[in-house]
Amino acid sequence: MSELHNLSVKALASLLQTKEVSAVEVATRFLARMGGNPHNAYLDIDSEVTLAQARASDAKLADGTAGPLEGVPVAHKDVFVTRDFATTAGSKILSGYRSPFDATVVQRLRSAGMVSLGKLNCDEFAMGSANENSAYGPVQNPWDTARVPGGSSGGSAAAVAAGLAPAATGTDTGGSIRQPASFCGITGIKPTYGRASRYGMIAYASSLDQAGPMARSAEDCALLLSAMCGADLDRDSTSLDMPTEDFAASLNNSIEGLRIGIPKEFFGEGLAADVRAAVDGALREYEKLGAKLVPISLPRTELSIPVYYIIAPAEASSNLSRFDGVKFGHRAKDYTDLVDMYKKTRAEGFGNEVKRRIMTGAYVLSHGYYDAYYLQAQKIRRMIADDFQNAFKECDVIAGPVAPSVAWKFGENANDPVADYLADIFTLPASLAGLPGMSVPAGFGAGGMPVGLQLIGNYFKEAQLLNAAHRLQQATDFHLRKPQGI
Ligand code: GLN
Repeated sequence: MSELHNLSVKALASLLQTKEVSAVEVATRFLARMGGNPHNAYLDIDSEVTLAQARASDAKLADGTAGPLEGVPVAHKDVFVTRDFATTAGSKILSGYRSPFDATVVQRLRSAGMVSLGKLNCDEFAMGSANENSAYGPVQNPWDTARVPGGSSGGSAAAVAAGLAPAATGTDTGGSIRQPASFCGITGIKPTYGRASRYGMIAYASSLDQAGPMARSAEDCALLLSAMCGADLDRDSTSLDMPTEDFAASLNNSIEGLRIGIPKEFFGEGLAADVRAAVDGALREYEKLGAKLVPISLPRTELSIPVYYIIAPAEASSNLSRFDGVKFGHRAKDYTDLVDMYKKTRAEGFGNEVKRRIMTGAYVLSHGYYDAYYLQAQKIRRMIADDFQNAFKECDVIAGPVAPSVAWKFGENANDPVADYLADIFTLPASLAGLPGMSVPAGFGAGGMPVGLQLIGNYFKEAQLLNAAHRLQQATDFHLRKPQGI
C-alpha cells in the first residue's frame, strides 16, 4: 500500500470502512511523508496527537460507531484554532499560542471521523496571494519549487498536491481557497458566505471570511463540505440556519442544457494567453457535455479590487486590535507602560503586509475619510452583488479563469504588494457578493504549471457547482495528474 498517499478521500474512507487498512496505518504513512516538512507546508506536526486520533478512529471502526470519513486524514490551515496543535495564523504575534478549544469546522470534521495531521502554513492572518507573507517562511509549489503555491491557503494547496494530506481545510476571504487550488492543480470550493461556521476561525475580514475544503477532486470536496457545514447559531450568528446537505448526492446529475455564463470582463487584456487557452479548452469540454455557453457581463469586475482592498483592511484593522500582548501569544520584553507594551508588541509581532493593512483600514475608517472610502466601497459592493443577480437571470453558473496567470516565481512581485492585489481580480467579485465559487483543474500553462477554471454559483448552489465540476473531472484527467515524484 505504498500508494496510500495518492488515494482519494473517498477511496481511503471505503478501505477503512471495510478494514482493508487501519487508520493508524494511513496516518503512519502520511506522517512518514511529512518528515523533514517538504515544501514547508506544515507549521505544526505532532505524531502522538495524530496517532492517538487514529487509534480512536480504529476503535470506532471496530465497534460500529464510525463516522462517514472515519480514519481519513485531513490537515488544517493554521487560522483554525485547535486544542491539540499550536495555532499561529502564520504570525509571529501568535507564536506559542494554543487554543483552549477547537474551531467548529475542526470539530465537525473530527466528528465525521477525520484524523488531523497538523496545521498548515499560510499567509499571515490570511493576507496574501502567494504565501510569501508567512512569518514562518514561504511554501514551495510542488509543481516547481521556484514558484509560489498561491495564497493565502498555500500550505493547504501544496500539502494536497504533494501527497502530504489527502485533503485540507482552507479559508477564502478574497480567493484564498480558489487561487492556491488553481496554482497547485487541486480542487477547492468556497461555499456561500455563512455555510460554514466561523467560530474558531481567526478573523481577517468577518463579512467575507468563509471556510471550505481543498482536495484532489470535486467528489472529495463534496464529502468534506457536507461534514464541515451546518448552522452554529449560538457561536456564529452569521452561520446559515439551513439543514446540512449531502453535496455528493447530485454529483452525477446530467448537465445537459446547463447554461454557463461567460463574463466578458474575465477574458480581457490582462488574462495570460496560456491561462485563456486552458480555460477555453475546459469550456469546450462543457459544450461536449451538453452545456450551453452564454455571454454575460459583470460590469463592475475591475472595481472589486479597490472595493475589496478598502473593506477587507477596514475589517482587519478592527479584528486585529485584539492582538495586543495581553491575552494571546507574543509580548514585548521591555516596555515602560501599558501603551508602550501594546506598541512594541504589535511592532514586533506583525509583519509588513499586516501592518500595511491595519494602517490602510484605520485610514479608510477615520473621520473625514469614512464617507469617501469605506461608505462608497460598501455601496459598490452591493452593486457588484446586484450584477451577479442580473447575470443569473441568463445563466445557471458562471465560468472563467481563477487568476490571470499561472503561479509566479518567488520574488517576482516582491516589494510590489499592488501587483499581488491586482492578481485577485477574478476571485474578489464572488467574495464581495458572498457567492460560492470553486477552482477546478483545467489544464496546464507556461512552465507546465496548472491552470484552474473558476465556477461561480448563485447562493446555496454548491451542489450544482460540485456537480458541474465532477462532470468535467469525469471527462478530463487534469485533476489526476501529479507533480513529478509524487
Ligand atoms: N489575496 C487576498 C488578500 O490578500 C485574499 C486573501 C484571502 O482570501 N484570505 O486579502
